[in-house]
Amino acid sequence: MAEAIANPPVVERLAIIGLGLIGSSIARVARERGLARTVVAGDGSDAVRQRVSELGFADVVAPDLVSAVKDADLVILCVPVGAMGAVAAEIGPHLKPGSIVSDVGSVKGSVVAAVQPHLAAGVHFVPAHPVAGTEHSGPDAGFSELFINRWCILTPPEGQALEAVATVQAFWAGAGSNVEIMTPQHHDLVLAITSHVPHLIAYNIVGTAADLEEVTQSEVIKFSAGGFRDFTRIAASDPTMWRDIFLHNKEAVLEMLGRFNEDLAALQRMIRWGDGDGLFELFTRTRAIRRGIIQVGQETASPDFGRRGPAGDKPAQ
Ligand code: NAP
Repeated sequence: MAEAIANPPVVERLAIIGLGLIGSSIARVARERGLARTVVAGDGSDAVRQRVSELGFADVVAPDLVSAVKDADLVILCVPVGAMGAVAAEIGPHLKPGSIVSDVGSVKGSVVAAVQPHLAAGVHFVPAHPVAGTEHSGPDAGFSELFINRWCILTPPEGQALEAVATVQAFWAGAGSNVEIMTPQHHDLVLAITSHVPHLIAYNIVGTAADLEEVTQSEVIKFSAGGFRDFTRIAASDPTMWRDIFLHNKEAVLEMLGRFNEDLAALQRMIRWGDGDGLFELFTRTRAIRRGIIQVGQETASPDFGRRGPAGDKPAQ
């Protein structure tokens, strides 16, 4: 974990496009740790630009995306996955030769396919995914500690200039993250099971509870401590972001859902036939996984009773 203030900065001019939870957290940490000499903010929304000016974590709030990327050495796209292609098309012709484009999209294969065609030969492309987040959105939700001791996965295309990859790696290390490199396809498979399918399950169970007729809504809320409350936190995640994730990581999610359904059918059989040993054996194995996550510092063992403050983060998105 890198705690030091970067001296000199990792990049001179950083442009962040999309100042929501992730973009504003990057701006804050870049400012706080001196990762960039100048932090430029670009966002499609008047209201967001206005709020970023008020919050004061960017040196420049650009009036449009094209002026935001002018002369930038590193451009990080922090918009929803479904908007990456349109943003790349808009800024592509205005990028400085030799500059680096990166992103933070939760899906990598589709983002690479959508962005790459809009970048000139002299522009480097190093896609990234910081595996850190909360269920909150917008520029007020960001905080500079979000990435500390979290993983950031880079998926550089084969043959990408090593210096460009090293710069993005240094940037994320400077933000406090551990960095790992893999292919976009492998990233999408790993995240399908660690993040995307769990979110789908949460959306589904909260939706099912909302539709129940025999149990009232007030009972669902009143007795939510019985496990349901943890699902509601995940199911409160941003609808635009998650719609885009499922539409853009379709194959990997469907593959993992197929396996999930088979395992669920096996559990159903154990309950039907009273196979207590089978249930006990599975629950013992899953408990060990939780312990493993705590041991590597990706979660704490302390109970939070669902009352973490706005800075309380969840491990993976
Ligand atoms: P967010 O809080 O909703 O912020 C997205 C920002 O992008 C908003 O300010 C939005 O403005 C702006 N925007 C949307 N479309 C745009 C466009 N076409 N041009 C310019 N600006 C545009 O979202 P977020 O949670 O930071 O997520 C951003 C990215 O990070 C996504 O790709 C997501 O997959 C990835 N990610 C998220 C998490 C997480 O936990 N949230 C974790 C890791 C990675 P409006 O509000 O006006 O639309």
